[in-house]
This record gives sequence, structure tokens and C-alpha cells, in this order.
Amino acid sequence: MFEQSISTLAQKLRDKEVSSVELTRLFLDRIKTIDPQLNSFITVSDELALQQAKAADTLLANGNATSLTGIPIAHKDLFCTQGTLTTCGSNILNNFIPPYESTVTSRFQQAGAVMLGKTNMDEFAMGSSNENSFYGAVKNPWDLNKVPGGSSGGSAAAVSAGLAVAATGTDTGGSIRQPASFCGITGLKPTYGRVSRFGMIAYASSLDQGGPMAKSAEDCAHLMQAMGGFDDKDSTSSETPNDDYLTNLNAPLTGLTIGLPKEYFGEGLDSKVADTINTAVKEFEKLGATIKDVSLPNLQLSIPAYYVIAPSEASSNLSRFDGVRFGHRCENPKDLMDMYTRSRAEGFGREVQKRIMVGTYALSEGYYDAYYLKAQKIRRLIKEDFVNALKEVDVIMGPVAPTTAFGLGSKTSDPVAMYLEDIYTLSVNLAGIPAMSVPAGFVDGMPVGLQIMGDYFAEAKLLNIAHQYQQHTDWHLQTPDLAKGAQA
Ligand code: GLN
Repeated sequence: MFEQSISTLAQKLRDKEVSSVELTRLFLDRIKTIDPQLNSFITVSDELALQQAKAADTLLANGNATSLTGIPIAHKDLFCTQGTLTTCGSNILNNFIPPYESTVTSRFQQAGAVMLGKTNMDEFAMGSSNENSFYGAVKNPWDLNKVPGGSSGGSAAAVSAGLAVAATGTDTGGSIRQPASFCGITGLKPTYGRVSRFGMIAYASSLDQGGPMAKSAEDCAHLMQAMGGFDDKDSTSSETPNDDYLTNLNAPLTGLTIGLPKEYFGEGLDSKVADTINTAVKEFEKLGATIKDVSLPNLQLSIPAYYVIAPSEASSNLSRFDGVRFGHRCENPKDLMDMYTRSRAEGFGREVQKRIMVGTYALSEGYYDAYYLKAQKIRRLIKEDFVNALKEVDVIMGPVAPTTAFGLGSKTSDPVAMYLEDIYTLSVNLAGIPAMSVPAGFVDGMPVGLQIMGDYFAEAKLLNIAHQYQQHTDWHLQTPDLAKGAQA
């Protein structure tokens, strides 16, 4: 049952083959037996989940159900959930119970979905391995000695291990796509502005974007129906009407042109990952697509540009955590300054402190032009690269990450090696376009994700392309042994 798609589960719920309460219990039991090995949840909200499931069963009985009514899902622990602990993976928010609900989670509530709990993540979404969480690292369900990717590693591991039907994630520089790739699930980073950021704890506001993480493109489409669309509580929310992501899933791919950027297949890319991606691209040719070479010449600059812009925005966003209004406050402060400094020193982990320092430096007088302004100019060039390439092709494909999931602890002492992991994902956020990670095979037993990047607001097209691929391949249906150990 835990492996079923949203459409199938929704049908079973409507047919009364299973109730939402039963389904929710099944997932809560799976979390109890399997999650001690993974650490993918920070909070499991059993009581609330069962209450919501009961309410969903009433809606189902009255015929007022959407396709998400009664479906148990999990939320990354940076979406504020009223009355439920929201930590953002940080010690500084270890006691933060939000007095309000994020737009994304409230839209899922309105659709009748059940929240199982809040998933583990890198502190303030800073990381590529989930090793930066105050609540401990998350393990990859395919190999417990490997990372699940980050920062939405908890969501990816939970979905991959069948601990939730689907989950939400956020992607500032790859945090939906890279963990989806490492854990063998499907993830979509929408166009900037497509999904409301209201109530999503900010890391880098001009890059952050929430999106769905699920087993298949079709499941992601169901999630996007609920989470996408204009929100007047977010001033950067787009007024472009939310698409219907389900109607075009079955459109044929004949005539589709796919661009392969040579920069995505150069030095640093693991050769077996490259082979996997090339095989996936051939599958698209069989489905009627034409392949074209394109170029994204400024790819290499995405790392320095991102690692100036993101920390700059973070240093500003994170100034609100001062021990005064919410979150951790140090014991017995001597005076106000002592309270600020000790609360922040105790509350923030090393990576977060480092980025606050880098960002504060880059924004300081005298350095602003040299670093921040320069990075913004590079950002413009990167955006133009995509705009130009997408004039020639419908979508761009490449790897999500240069390697499969790496060993726990193997990159923690080398920040540059860790940042290089993000080479294929960062530029998408700098440009603001949508992109997906789609399971495309395995290398030495570990999943590999194919990245599909599209034009602004082309989410429905991306989901259609990924869905067609998934009709002809079964990579997305593979489940780690760990998931099969518990009762089905
Ligand atoms: N790995 C990148 C970082 O550490 C991206 C993280 C994200 O997308 N939230 O900033």
C-alpha cells in the first residue's frame, strides 16, 4: 500500500477500500519502525494526523474530496505550521511553535491532505548533504552510510523509504532536485514566484522556492495543483494563473527539442552518471524528441555568484533571530548585547555562522560593489544564457549532480568540494526557471536523477515530459530494501 500512487490511493479512499485513518496509521507505524534508522523526521505529529484523517474520512463520505483528501504527506520543517514545532533544522528555533500557517501547508489542509509530521533538513536550508542539521544527519535509504542529499534530505529519504506518500521541499540552489536525485524520487523546483513563500522560513529570498517531492511526476502534478498559484501574502508571488498540471500529462512528445549543454557533460562529471544520463536522453529520442547541442557558457560562474548572493541575503534574513521575540535565548544574559551574541552563538551552527559572516562582509561598505554587485551582474549573464538556449530548444537536459550520493562525513571538512556538488543546480535558481529531477537509473546501486530544465512557467510541460518518460521506464518505481522490511 505504501508504494501506491496518489491517483490509486485517492481511488481506494473514494471506493472505501481503505479509510484515511487506516492509511495514516499505516504510515505512522512505518515511521515508528523505519525512521530510527533514517532520522528523516524532526517531528511526527501523530495526534494531529489522525484528527485530520478523521476529518478527511468525513469529507470523503460526503463526496467533497479532492485527489489529496486523506493522503498522508510530510512537510519540510521550514514551512510554518500553526501549533506544531517548526525548527528549520536549527537549535535557534528549538522551541518555536508558529502562531500562523504557511500558505503552502494551509493549501494542503484545504485540499484535505493529512500532515504526518515535519521533515529533517540542513539548518536554514544551507547544505547539500543534510549533515548540517542540529537534529542529526539523515541517512540515505539506499545505503545507510551515504547522505540523502540536502537540504530537503528528510523529505527525500521519507518519500523514498515509503514513510510518506509525498512531501514538500524547498530549493534555493538545488535542495529539491539533488536530494530527489540521491534518493531516487521525483522532485520539481517551480519557477520563482509560482509557489508562495509566505510562512516559509527565509534563507535567500530571491532564490527560495517551494515545490513537490514524490515518487512520480504524476504525483508531483497532484501536489502542484494544490500548492501553486498567486498569493497576496507574498509580494513576489506571480499573478500568472496556476496551470492545470494533470490534463497534459499524456500529451505525446513528438516534435520536442531537447538541448544538451556541453558544459553539463564536462570535467568533474562521473563517467557512469554521464552514461546514465545519455541513456535517458536516448529514451526521449525513441519517444519522438530531437536532440540539439546548446551552450550555457557561464555555468562555472554560478558557484561563486550563488555563494555570494545566497549568504548575503541570508545574513540579512537571519538578523531577526536575536533571542528577543522568538526562538532560543541564552541563560542569564549580562546585558542586551550579551543576550544577542550568546543567543546567536549558541543557536546557530557552524555553517550558518560562516554564511552570516560571508554575507555580512559581501554587503559591507566598500565590498558591496566588488562582491555583491558583481555577483548580481553574473546572475544576469546566467539568466541570459538560459533565455538564449531556450530560444533554440523546448527544454534542457543534463545531470542533477556530478556524482551519486556520497559517503556520510566524506565532504564535511572540505567546503569547496561540498559547494561543487551544486554546479548543475545553482544556475536554475539564479535564473528563476523551473527544473525537475527524474529517476533515470542506478550507478553501483545508487539512484541517478536526470535534470529537465524549462522556460518560465513551463511546469506543466516539464511534468508532461517526465510523465511520458515514466510511462516507458520503471526507475521511479524502484524501492530500497529498507522500505520493504516493514509491513506493507
Ligand atoms: N546546497 C546549496 C546551499 O547550501 C543549496 C541549498 C538549497 O537549495 N537550500 O546553499
